[in-house]
Amino acid sequence: MKTDVQVAIVGGGIVGASVLYWLSRFGWTDAVLLERRELTSGSTWHAAGNTTYFGPYAQMTRLFAGSIRTYLQAEEESGQSVGFHQTGSLRVATTPRELELFRQFTTKYKSLGIPYHVVDNDAIAALHPCIDTSGLFGAAHTPTDGHVDPVGATNALAQAARKRGADVVRHCPVESLCPHNGGWLLDTANGQIKAQHVVMAASFWTRELLLPLGVNTPLYATEHHELITGSVPQIEALSHEVPAMRDSHVSCSVRQEGNGFLTGIYETEPVFWSLDGIPKDFKEELLPPNTERLMTHLERLMERMPVMADAGIKTINNGPMCWTPDGLPMLGPLKSYPGLWLASGFNVGIGTGGGSAEFLAHWMTQGRPLFDLPVVHAERFGNDMTREEAVESIRACYRQGYRLPDAIH
Ligand SMILES: Cc1cc2nc3c(=O)[nH]c(=O)nc-3n(C[C@H](O)[C@H](O)[C@H](O)COP(=O)(O)OP(=O)(O)OC[C@H]3O[C@@H](n4cnc5c(N)ncnc54)[C@H](O)[C@@H]3O)c2cc1C
Repeated sequence: MKTDVQVAIVGGGIVGASVLYWLSRFGWTDAVLLERRELTSGSTWHAAGNTTYFGPYAQMTRLFAGSIRTYLQAEEESGQSVGFHQTGSLRVATTPRELELFRQFTTKYKSLGIPYHVVDNDAIAALHPCIDTSGLFGAAHTPTDGHVDPVGATNALAQAARKRGADVVRHCPVESLCPHNGGWLLDTANGQIKAQHVVMAASFWTRELLLPLGVNTPLYATEHHELITGSVPQIEALSHEVPAMRDSHVSCSVRQEGNGFLTGIYETEPVFWSLDGIPKDFKEELLPPNTERLMTHLERLMERMPVMADAGIKTINNGPMCWTPDGLPMLGPLKSYPGLWLASGFNVGIGTGGGSAEFLAHWMTQGRPLFDLPVVHAERFGNDMTREEAVESIRACYRQGYRLPDAIH
């Protein structure tokens, strides 16, 4: 293991691997990624892999679009498949106001060169025969997004970075870090490493690693369920994959998985996980599922997609999902700690990880972020937010689910 590097990245999920990849592309190959266990050990291994272009903030779209581009580049460079399925996505309008907001996004997507259409109910039915369109007002359709295999994508990013000379060290937990001679000293299970820069990409663990330095990052985890159904005859009969669907009333996303569906649900009452500290021995684990809590959402989903009633649930995954108080990641430098950078707080890290890493790596190597996006800057919460304040804000964000804010930003 190298012991003196330009940059050390802590955490080998999709975000850490993406940062390593982009730093190496920008020429910083004297870089090492340190992972506590295996790559993807945190939330990445069990993620559904959805990578839509459509988010509640139009200005975040560049991070979404950059992510798919990043994963496909890494696939080409490494030869490792990222399992991209270009199914497209439908964000259904459950109110006239939602449709109006979808229309307002059109100019933004046009300026970014991303295919985007607002479609009517007939078009929804033609694209996705399992959606009952009664009560809908149309949908936003992004035909070129879809989903990736998060494990394949993380490995492709790491392999492509390694090809350029960057290093990945697994089974190397970082125990502590401190400023040292204008750079940083990291204590790891495998010995000390000196680094000019450190990127914290350790999701909710970042909070615990930085607390001893007096850095209070409001990063906490909620539980999050995804359900996988058995085969659906209507899907078996098709020769193409249907688009993913997102619905603010049901508060879920549904994409095709094999000949069935995979749905991820944002519950009305989020349940927090390990607020008092992440268990030291937490491995590649899932949390006990609780289907009772999901019933209202599932009933609504069966109204929207009646085929769900007979599909039968095959698998339920409940995993920890990292949140910040406004639901957006924390990216960039902590200026009071020169050389310390954050890439943490991702609740849609597959969707935004690759593009966020490009944004951050550009900032680190060129002295300014790739483009202007202050809503994600790492220092926006200050250092004084209490746990109660952070949890209350996260609760509101999680409840928001797929509902759009009142105005488009
Ligand atoms: C059920 C479920 C479904 C989801 N589906 C989607 C989806 O479809 N699309 C989407 O965009 N997002 C989805 N997510 C969210 C997504 O999983 C996360 O946003 C993403 O994986 C976060 O990536 P990350 O790299 O920030 O964190 P992680 O994947 O958690 O990686 C952090 C890494 O840091 C390592 N680490 C921690 N402490 C240390 C230390 N001291 N030293 C070294 N390494 C350390 C951990 O072992 C871990 O590997 C889903 C989440 C859940 C729970």
